[in-house]
Amino acid sequence: MKSYIYLDNAATTKTAQEVVDAMLPYFTEYYGNPSSIYSLGAKSKEAVTDAREVIARSLGAQTNEIYFTAGGSEADNWALKAAAEAYREKGRHIITSCIEHHAVLHTCDYLEKNGFAVTRVGVDENGIVKLDELEKAIREDTILISIMFANNEIGTIQPIREIGEIASRRGILFHTDAVQAYGQLPIDVDAYHIDMLSASGHKLNGPKGVGFLYIRKGVRIRSFVHGGQQERARRAGTENVTGIVGMGAAAGRAMRIMAEKAQRETALRDYLIGRIESEVPYCRLNGHREKRLPNNVNFSFRFVEGESLLIMLDGKGICASSGSACTSGSLDPSHVLLAIGLPHETAHGSLRLTLGGETTKEELDAVVEAVKEIVEKLRAMSPLYEDFVKTGSRG
Ligand SMILES: *Cc1c(COP(=O)(O)O)cnc(C)c1O
Repeated sequence: MKSYIYLDNAATTKTAQEVVDAMLPYFTEYYGNPSSIYSLGAKSKEAVTDAREVIARSLGAQTNEIYFTAGGSEADNWALKAAAEAYREKGRHIITSCIEHHAVLHTCDYLEKNGFAVTRVGVDENGIVKLDELEKAIREDTILISIMFANNEIGTIQPIREIGEIASRRGILFHTDAVQAYGQLPIDVDAYHIDMLSASGHKLNGPKGVGFLYIRKGVRIRSFVHGGQQERARRAGTENVTGIVGMGAAAGRAMRIMAEKAQRETALRDYLIGRIESEVPYCRLNGHREKRLPNNVNFSFRFVEGESLLIMLDGKGICASSGSACTSGSLDPSHVLLAIGLPHETAHGSLRLTLGGETTKEELDAVVEAVKEIVEKLRAMSPLYEDFVKTGSRG
């Protein structure tokens, strides 16, 4: 297969070989149902227990607070819908931010159509949730605050501890979508006052279609899938044993290499940001410069159409994404880029490059050269850019 420069690790990651190796025996050798009484089943059950332990430890949680799901979107849906249902007698108001992943935003839209009120708190120009606005949004009937740990588009890391403190002081449940943060940043659910947390395997070099929801002991929450006794009868269905083994192996691996990986990626990230800022004119870094995921780079280039940029990068074997990639087919620019105040045109000309453990400086050098060449080419075809150059850069 043709070789790629893969810089879309926020979309998904390559499954690590050690994770694949851990999973393989559970397909063909230890394929028993964890609910079975014989030892073949017990072997699967043990593997699920081990994975749960690794994950609980990684968060400072207890094993019976970890519930496996079919990924991040399911965990977000479960947290919001089930908490809303379980606490609806207490109140019908939910607070979230306007830069959440669609798994949270669209679930909030759904809840809004079903008798709940939702406040979507704004963010500043760097994408940090406005804490004063959040506090003001709290009402007598607020039952849940759901704010993501780190943003998937612009990489901004939220003041999670402060938000957790606000929620805990006011006796409100706090859920965080930590799909981008889990495995990249250290997380302690007690220190941050987190009541529920979503994560997903395929964002941390694990398999797709498996994730988990952490639910603090004592939180009243409804079952998400009714059926058998799996996952303490809250999420029924025969366990995705191979997936769960992969999720556990990916979590263990991520915790082991986290500090070193973050340090390496932060250096590469800042190198890439520095080169683009100094070599590509009329660009803007989106997201906070320091409070930022170690692997996230997001730029807007004026007079450039993001979709064209991506297609031309693909022509050079570079995998990246743009502000509208999630909704490709639609012309709406990213809600995140609009929320940090970018005008529509600038939001359309955005490029997200997310690094991974295998990213090298040489690859980034090749990407900078490609971006420079393509941006120049696209601008040369843009009548807006022509006007801009003619009238000087005052417009
Ligand atoms: C990828 C992602 C999700 C969805 O996770 P899946 O496992 O793909 O369903 C949710 N939230 C954030 C922030 C993400 O980046």
